[in-house]
Amino acid sequence: MDCDVIVIGGGYAGLSAGALLAHRGYEVLLLEKSRSLGGRAGFMEKDGYIVEYGLHANRNASDGAAAAVFRRLGRELEFIAPGEPELWREGGFVPLPNNVGKIFRSSMLPLPAKISAARYLVKLVAGNPAKKYQLSLEDLTASCKSQETLEILRVISGIGIIAPEPANASAGELAAYLKKALRSKVKVGYPRGGTPSIIGGLREELEKNGQIMTGNKVTRLMLKKGLVNQVKTETSSYTAYAVVSAMPVQDLPDLFGGKDLPIKFAKRARELVPTAGISLDVGLKEPVTDKNGLLVTSEPLSMGQFTSNIDPGMAPAGRQLLSWYYPLPLPWVKNADKMGREEQRLRGVLGEMFPGIWDAVDWERTLRLSMVDGFLPRPGQTRADRPDFTIPSLDNFFICGDTTRAEGTGGDTAFNSAIHVSGLVDDYLEEITEEEEDED
Ligand SMILES: Cc1cc2nc3c(=O)[nH]c(=O)nc-3n(C[C@H](O)[C@H](O)[C@H](O)COP(=O)(O)OP(=O)(O)OC[C@H]3O[C@@H](n4cnc5c(N)ncnc54)[C@H](O)[C@@H]3O)c2cc1C
Repeated sequence: MDCDVIVIGGGYAGLSAGALLAHRGYEVLLLEKSRSLGGRAGFMEKDGYIVEYGLHANRNASDGAAAAVFRRLGRELEFIAPGEPELWREGGFVPLPNNVGKIFRSSMLPLPAKISAARYLVKLVAGNPAKKYQLSLEDLTASCKSQETLEILRVISGIGIIAPEPANASAGELAAYLKKALRSKVKVGYPRGGTPSIIGGLREELEKNGQIMTGNKVTRLMLKKGLVNQVKTETSSYTAYAVVSAMPVQDLPDLFGGKDLPIKFAKRARELVPTAGISLDVGLKEPVTDKNGLLVTSEPLSMGQFTSNIDPGMAPAGRQLLSWYYPLPLPWVKNADKMGREEQRLRGVLGEMFPGIWDAVDWERTLRLSMVDGFLPRPGQTRADRPDFTIPSLDNFFICGDTTRAEGTGGDTAFNSAIHVSGLVDDYLEEITEEEEDED
């Protein structure tokens, strides 16, 4: 065998799984198709700016999933607490009423709307979220007459689980997110130094007992007797006792021969619908605001931050970095005219919020993304529905990433899946070692 474990993909999930396994003493080989690491949490340096792949904050910061991975590796991840989130509405900013206390203090809601919004939040978090998985937010609020209440719930679902359309938001997934937020002392944090600090830390841990090979696309997995016995890239072939896929599951069936995967699994993987939309990063020659919290627009629903106001290290002195995300349905991303209109709409709203912003542009980058989070948490795509971490017919093959049934959405799912899968791989490798010892 070339090593103990091969990991396919060097995003948050693959690097975390690889680092956790290396930390447990296994020899790891990570194969990444791109020239750089990070996947959707990748970054680049540009004229003194550190430009992430759009807006990247961590839910629950030191109580969250990335911090949990780092703690298991014996490291600390440092987070900066952003300012209070604000909502842009009717031409002005108001504190974002994203919990019961803030709802009652909010100036944007009349009393009946405060009572009804609070009631819906309580209804959402009461009981077991799994019982509400297949109920949409639209179903849950079918009898609600208050437009303000519906708006607030749509905003909370949009920023919390990136499901801004009530018909396409699972009430149970939203409930799970709200429950976790209620239990946690910290709601959100920004990693000091941005995603490079996460990617760099994981890379360092993995390389203590393993190797990372970028520019190596895995093209085929060969099977023998219920095991993945060869991992082929465009130029080579590798063997290991266990193989972990940390690439989006939508592309995983392409690595297998026609009849290698159970049909149901392959279909579910291919058809999993991700979140999508427009990501806009702007370097600004001069500061346009001192706002340092999450900023949210209600119509259209979008969110962003002046990253360099949270962590000044992300832009050169005297300049600012803005990152904004506008979630849109996946089919829209393929419609160039529609996307062009939505981009203009977003730019218009940003111009209203920050007059003069478009005259202060140093550089800008607009991305039309067909995958932001690995799945849209709508009924039919909840934890219970998403692809599992293992495939029963393939004993030594494991799946992690933000397209699996791990807890949370986006980065949280990626990190949580890696924690879970590294445990499964450890158990499997111990088991086969014991079997080999018994045979001896
Ligand atoms: C603009 C934007 C903003 C976001 N904001 C947030 C946020 O604020 N908070 C949050 O929690 N999440 C956020 N996310 C989501 C978060 O980035 C993802 O959930 C997370 O990065 C997914 O990690 P992953 O490792 O599961 O997948 P990926 O990052 O997709 O990693 C998979 C890796 O596998 C590699 N790969 C694929 N196929 C192969 C192959 N055949 N061979 C070898 N390698 C292969 C890919 O190149 C990639 O590097 C955001 C995403 C985007 C795009």
